[in-house]
Amino acid sequence: MSAPNKNYDPVAVTALSAAEVDRALEAALAAIEAASTLDELKEARLAHDGDKAPLRLARAEIGALPPEAKADAGRRVGAAMNRIREAIGQRQAQLERNRDEQVLVTERVDVTLPFDRTPEGARHPVTMTAERLADVFVAMGYEVAEGPEVEAEWYNFDALNIPPDHPAREMQDTLFVARPDGEPGPQGGYGGTGSPPMLGSGMVLRTHTSPVQIRSLLTRPLPLYVVSPGKVYRNEALDATHLPVFYQIEGLAVDEGLTMADLRGAIQAFVDALFGAGLRTRLRPDYFPFTEPSGDVSMECHVCRGESVKPGADPCRICRSMGWIEIAGCGMVNPRVLVACGIDPDRYSGFAFGLGVERALMLAHGVNEIRDTVDGDVRFSRAFGMEI
Ligand SMILES: [Zn+2]
Repeated sequence: MSAPNKNYDPVAVTALSAAEVDRALEAALAAIEAASTLDELKEARLAHDGDKAPLRLARAEIGALPPEAKADAGRRVGAAMNRIREAIGQRQAQLERNRDEQVLVTERVDVTLPFDRTPEGARHPVTMTAERLADVFVAMGYEVAEGPEVEAEWYNFDALNIPPDHPAREMQDTLFVARPDGEPGPQGGYGGTGSPPMLGSGMVLRTHTSPVQIRSLLTRPLPLYVVSPGKVYRNEALDATHLPVFYQIEGLAVDEGLTMADLRGAIQAFVDALFGAGLRTRLRPDYFPFTEPSGDVSMECHVCRGESVKPGADPCRICRSMGWIEIAGCGMVNPRVLVACGIDPDRYSGFAFGLGVERALMLAHGVNEIRDTVDGDVRFSRAFGMEI
């Protein structure tokens, strides 16, 4: 910028000539019109309305004009700059509108579309119950032991004092597994005298979790406290009260000096943990080949607490108004089982108990049909919550 100059000829200042201002205005309007995005518009604004814009630079020269020329030049440049800002404002609004419309199209969500997402999976109530039962014993110092579901007959029967001609092999409706050479299993056949126990014995789908007891006794050091939850198989049709595949959980303790009092204590602790303290338990004589003596465990009905047996009382669906519910089988480990596992029965004794996991689930939650546990209907599972 130069000092006021009386001899200054405005026409000679090219940047301030009417033609030059019009040209700058036209260039600005063209650039603004050509801007197709907000970023391009920003560039156009900097070029034509920024500090280095031609009209800004021209306006800086106005101060140097003679007084008679100042007003005219100022009006001309001011009008042009106003026109440019107005055009920028309009274009800005238009581009923002376009952008918003674009967002509505590209980020469109149709909330009326059918809901087709698969719900997240969750564990089955039977699994949750088995783990909860096992946890009760783990808290008492038991270890969890597991074994194969395709099991040698020797583990499933012989070692548990169930010899080949024992009716229990029939009672349990065993499913035999073909041998790897394609020959069918010997259907209860057992290798005969003189051969080692494993030789000649076929393979079965384990009919109970008791073979895990044998495996534990053969592989773990004494004293032994294990709990084994798992899947077992029976050749039975699926109906309201039977499943061909179901879950059992068994406990086994072998130590010096264990008596039935220890068994009772373990059972009572188990019932207290599962159904709350205060329910009495009772043992009645029963028979299992692998325990001697054997018993069945009943607990006081957790729903009516025995009230339903009184004359005139409301009937109880859970205990069928018997006041007691059978929940498990148990007994002192048969010395023959200990011997089969190489354990001295004069030094060690043990107790064992087992129960059906589905039955425990049904009792605890008032489920009527065991079939509900295998139907795979999420409406059943959902009622138990979605523990992960
Ligand atoms: Zn009852």
